[in-house]
Amino acid sequence: MYGIDNLIQCQICGKWFRQVGSHIFMTHGITAREYREAYGFDVKKGQLPADYKELKHDQAIENGMDTRLQKAGIKTRFKKGQKGLGLYHRSPQTMTRLKNMHQLFKKKGGAV
Ligand SMILES: [Zn+2]
Repeated sequence: MYGIDNLIQCQICGKWFRQVGSHIFMTHGITAREYREAYGFDVKKGQLPADYKELKHDQAIENGMDTRLQKAGIKTRFKKGQKGLGLYHRSPQTMTRLKNMHQLFKKKGGAV
């Protein structure tokens, strides 16, 4: 999926992009989540080349986005045992990520 010059290939039309999410929505008329589900990608993880992801991470930290999101997300966090947890289709990629997180959690003996 990742190619030369850190571009991502759209699985629908085969064109290459720096980030594919907005292209999927604007050109193919489906959401990034629908795209990820249709092509077996992890629905909870974005698809960005590593260098672009790092750039966006650094920009978010500079802008204070991390602390704003933590504060804004307090009201929407799931609580243990809450109804509605895990009620979506999980791709093989999602299941691998969740299994790895679980193993890491067990190794550390606490929060990941
Ligand atoms: Zn496309």
